[in-house]
Amino acid sequence: MESGRNLRVVKSDSPVRIHTGKPENLPERLANRALGMKASEIRSLFAVASRPEIVSLAGGMPNLSALPMEMMASVTQKLILENGAEALQYGSGQGHPKLREQICDVMALEGIKAHPDDVVVTTGSQQALDLISRIFIDPNDVVLVEAPSYVGALGTFKQYEAQVVHVAMDQDGLIPSALKDAIATTKSAGRKIKFLYLIPNYQNPAGVLLPADRRTEILDICREEQILVVEDNPYGLLGFDKPSPNAMRASDSENVIYLGTFSKTIAPGLRIGWALVPQSLKEKMVIASESSILCPSNFTQLVISSYLANQPWRDQIASFAKLYKDRRDAALSALDKYFPKSATWTKPGGGFYIWVTLPPEIDTNALMPKAIAAKVAYVPGTAFYADGFGSWSLRISYCHPTPERITEGIKSLAGVIKTEMESRQIN
Ligand code: PMP
Repeated sequence: MESGRNLRVVKSDSPVRIHTGKPENLPERLANRALGMKASEIRSLFAVASRPEIVSLAGGMPNLSALPMEMMASVTQKLILENGAEALQYGSGQGHPKLREQICDVMALEGIKAHPDDVVVTTGSQQALDLISRIFIDPNDVVLVEAPSYVGALGTFKQYEAQVVHVAMDQDGLIPSALKDAIATTKSAGRKIKFLYLIPNYQNPAGVLLPADRRTEILDICREEQILVVEDNPYGLLGFDKPSPNAMRASDSENVIYLGTFSKTIAPGLRIGWALVPQSLKEKMVIASESSILCPSNFTQLVISSYLANQPWRDQIASFAKLYKDRRDAALSALDKYFPKSATWTKPGGGFYIWVTLPPEIDTNALMPKAIAAKVAYVPGTAFYADGFGSWSLRISYCHPTPERITEGIKSLAGVIKTEMESRQIN
C-alpha cells in the first residue's frame, strides 16, 4: 500500500472492505471516455435469459455439446505433462510462432495466402477490435458499419469516441451504392472516415452472406476512397450447404485487416483470436496488445496448437456446422408456422442468427417483459444500432437451445407478438 494515511477499515457484511480515501465523488473523476461505458443490452439480458425455464434465443453462445470433452482433456493433460514449462510461462506478445503458422493454414480454407509474421494472436477477436480502435480512432472520427452491426464492435467504437455511421444492407449484405452515398455524405460534411467494419459471412446479427461480386465492389470503393476495411469473420467456416466465398482479405492484402477467432470453431473459453494485418501495422498492433495483456495465453494457444496438429479439426468444424444447421432448420420452420404473415426474416446459410422485422408499430424493447413472462428471450433490434434505430426488429440466436426448445420458444414469442398486434389492431 502506497501510504497508510486515511486507512480505514469499514466493516460490511463480509468480506471486510478497506478504504484508503473518500469514495464519494469517484464518478466525477472518471475520464471522458469512461462516461459512455454502459453494459450492453445483451449483457443485462443474460441474467434473465439464463434462467432455466426461459428459452434463450438471446445470447450467441456457441454450442459446445458437439465438442468431445475427453479429447480436449487429453490434449490439455498431454500438453501440461510434456510441455508444461513452456505452456504455463509468458510468451511472445505477437503470439506463439507455431500457432501463427497453423492459423495461416486455417485462413487458407478461405483463400487467404498469409505469412505467419503478419498474424497477431489476440485474446479473442474482441481484443483485436479494441486494438484496432485504439490505433486508429481519435474522438469524433467516423467508422462505417453495417446496419445493423455486432453489438460488441459498436461498444468498442463508442468507447474510443468514434461516430458510427450505419450503411444499409439487404438480403445480400452491405449495399455498395449505399456505401458510396455514405462516404460522399460523410466526406462532404468534412468528417474523417477511419475504416469500414463489416462481417461478410453469416453476419451478426442479420445472418446474411455478402456475395463475391459485392466483396470486389466494396474493396474497389474502399481502395479508391482510401478507407481501410476491417473484415471480421468468426462464422465463415460455419456454412451449412456450401463454403462461403473467399475472404475479402484474399484479394487485398494492403487495405484489409482480417479478424479471425477459434471461439466458434473450437471453444470461446480458450479466448484465442487473431488479426492478420498489413505489414506496416504489425508493430503498432503488437505494442498496443502488449500494453493491455503483455502476451496472449501461451497455455490456451498451445492447447489449440496441439489440437490442430493432432485432431481431425476440419471434421469437428463440420459437426458444429451440422448441429447449427439442425437448429437453423427448426427456427425457420417454426417462424413459418407460427409468426404473423406481416413479419419478415432472413434465411441464414450458416452461422448463428436470424434477423426478424415486425410491423413498425411494434416496439421490441417494450415487448421484452411480456416475452420473458411467456418464457422466451431475444435481443431487441436497437442493440445493434448506434443511433436507437431498429425498434421493430429483433435478433433470434438459434445456436444454443435444442431444436425442440427453439420451436417452443418461437411459438411462445409468436403468441406474444400476435397478442400485441391484436391489442393495437395491427394487421
Ligand atoms: N465479432 C463478432 C461478429 C462476433 O459475433 C463475436 C462474438 N460474438 C466477436 C467478434 C468476438 O468473439 P471472440 O472475442 O470470442 O473471438
